[in-house]
Amino acid sequence: MQPVDTHVHAFKSDPAFADLMARLRLRVLDICVADKQGIYGALAAQLARAKAFVGASPGHAKLCVTFNPFTFQHKDFAQHTVKQLHQEFSDGAVAVKIWKNIGMELKTPDGRYVMPDDPAFAPIYREIAAENKTLVAHVAEPSSCWEPPNPDSPDYDYYKENPEWYMYLHPDHPRKEVILAARDRLLAENPKLRVVGAHLGSMETDVDEIAKRFDRYPNFAVDTAARMEYLMLAPREKVRNFLIQYQDRVVYGTDLEFLANETTPDALKDWQDTYARDWKFLATDQTLQLRGREIQGLKLPEPVLRRIYHDNAVHWISGIADAAK
Ligand SMILES: [Zn+2]
Repeated sequence: MQPVDTHVHAFKSDPAFADLMARLRLRVLDICVADKQGIYGALAAQLARAKAFVGASPGHAKLCVTFNPFTFQHKDFAQHTVKQLHQEFSDGAVAVKIWKNIGMELKTPDGRYVMPDDPAFAPIYREIAAENKTLVAHVAEPSSCWEPPNPDSPDYDYYKENPEWYMYLHPDHPRKEVILAARDRLLAENPKLRVVGAHLGSMETDVDEIAKRFDRYPNFAVDTAARMEYLMLAPREKVRNFLIQYQDRVVYGTDLEFLANETTPDALKDWQDTYARDWKFLATDQTLQLRGREIQGLKLPEPVLRRIYHDNAVHWISGIADAAK
């Protein structure tokens, strides 16, 4: 299958990890995130660690860089960012990430929230498209972010631990619909830009919403990162039919992490368990236990599995499967 995981955050290098990837014939896209909170550390240090991971995993890992959006009002923001990205692409980066802080946190001095289709970012999107690279867009959040706490939600713990991102507590912030509408305009305005919507494009509760976007925007795909549970909890036949009908538009991704302060055996176990669980769900009709429920695997046809696990990643993220650079 030569699987590709298009959404990981790996910032530690360890030969045991290179072994895992070699054994599974696995390729990953290692994604940097530019945020104020520094979840993965300051951007420069993070980028250096990601590059070390990619360098230690020849042929198995490619880099997805990012840029600091908080300087978007500086006079030379776009010019500077484009120059930087151009250099990263020459050094082997294959994609660029934008994060949820665009749409949910970033503001103009007069208090307006800056959306992903803001003209400040237009030259950056043009550069990514011109270089035949991919925009990985984590835009908005799961719907549960705007809803009252529900212990049954897959994201319950995240919002409990990260109240600053829990929009139910911040009704003055933009609604989800407003942010996704801006994402849709970005897709319409940049038809030559390949966009992979991270986390099922934040349309995790209803595959019909994803299908609508696929029909409207041929330049749009989604990854499954950290949202596989939503697919597992949704009606089986509906999800199965969706994945078969749009088999060229969904790329496999996990959101797995390998962080500097983590012990390697724990991370290795987490990665292997996640891959085994997802494979069981997508490729077999065996039963999984999830949140007190029994879930039957989708047993997708083999050609569909090949697309989701490999072919789509190669198409949507050009260069992901190229030899080491
Ligand atoms: Zn992620």
